[in-house]
Amino acid sequence: MTVTDLAIVGVGKIARDQHVPAIADGGQFRLAATVSRSGGIEGVDNYDTLEALMEARPEIGVISFCNPPQVRYDGARAALEAGRHVMLEKPPGASLAEVDDLAAIAEAKGLTLYATWHSRHAESVAAAKAWLADKTVARVRVDWKEDVRVWHPGQKWIWEAGGLGVFDPAINAFSILTEILPVPVHVTGAELRFPANCETPIAAEVQFKGPGMTMLADLNFLDEGDPFWTITAETDAGTLTLTQGGAVLSIDSAAPTDWDDVAPGIHGEYPALYARLADLLATNASEVDTRPLTLVADAFMLGRRVTVEAFHE
Ligand code: NAP
Repeated sequence: MTVTDLAIVGVGKIARDQHVPAIADGGQFRLAATVSRSGGIEGVDNYDTLEALMEARPEIGVISFCNPPQVRYDGARAALEAGRHVMLEKPPGASLAEVDDLAAIAEAKGLTLYATWHSRHAESVAAAKAWLADKTVARVRVDWKEDVRVWHPGQKWIWEAGGLGVFDPAINAFSILTEILPVPVHVTGAELRFPANCETPIAAEVQFKGPGMTMLADLNFLDEGDPFWTITAETDAGTLTLTQGGAVLSIDSAAPTDWDDVAPGIHGEYPALYARLADLLATNASEVDTRPLTLVADAFMLGRRVTVEAFHE
C-alpha cells in the first residue's frame, strides 16, 4: 500500500482525539508534519505557520485542516493554490461561498477537496439510509442535546460569530439527515436562543419541510448528563430511530442494549474518513456536499432571535 505524507493544521481536541490515532492506525497516511501555534505533537515536525510548512515541505501533498471554521478558509485556499490536496473538518467553512470557492479552485487545479462529515460514518447510518430508501417519510424529529461544558470545554470560537454555537454539534445531525432521507428537506422557521454575552445560539428549535413530510429539531447545548443525539423518522412502514449520534439503529422497538455500556462519543468514524480520503486521492475526485451547512445557514436566515441568560463556563 502507498503511504501518503500528510500534514495537520490546528492540533486541538479533534486532531488529538481522532485524526492522529486514525492516521496512525489506518496505514494509508503518515503524519509528516503539523502546523500549530501551540507546539504540535511530540515527535512530529511542527511549523508555526502554513506558509512555513509549505515552503519547507514540498513533498507533503495533503493537508488536513482541523482548526475552527472561522480561520480555515485562507489556509485551505493557500494550500490548494500551492497544489496540495485538502481535507476539511466539519463544518467545511464559516460560509457557503467560502466552500464554493474552494471547490472551484480544487476543480480548476485537478486537486482533491474533501469536505468531511464524520457523523455520516457512524455505525448505523448506511443501514438507516438503506431502510428508508423505499419508505414514505411523514414526520421526523431530531433531538440533539449535550453539555457544552463537557464536550467543548474552553472553546471560545464556538461562541464567536461563525462558530455556530449549538449548531456545531447539530450540523452532525443535519449531515446524517441529508444522507439518509429519501427526499430533500428545507428549513421553514426557527427560534434561536442567544445568550446575552454570546454571538451564537446556545439552543434552538428548527422547523423543516420536505415533500409530504415535516421535521422538527430540538437543539440544546445545556443538557447535562449523557448526550442525547437521536433522530426518529415515522414512515408508512414503521418508525426508525437512530440513537448515539447515528451509531445505533432500531425499527419499531427499543434500541438494542449491547450499546448500553459503550461510552457516548465518536466510534470508528475517523478511520472511515481517512479511508475515504485515500479513495478520493486514488480516483482524483473531490467530495463537497454543502447541504448540511445550507440548513444551518437557512436557520440563521429565517430564525427568530431570542436573548437568554448569559453563558459562563
Ligand atoms: P479546538 O480544540 O478548540 O481547536 C482546534 C485547534 O485549532 C486549536 O487547538 C488550535 O491549534 C487551532 N485554533 C484554535 N483557534 C484558532 C484561531 N483563532 N486561529 C488559528 N488557529 C486556531 O477545536 P476542536 O474541537 O478540535 O474543533 C475543530 C474543528 O473540528 C471544528 O470545526 C469542530 O466542529 C470540528 N470537530 C470537533 C469535534 C469535537 O468533539 N471537539 C468533533 C468533530 C469535529 P494550535 O494550537 O495547534 O494552533
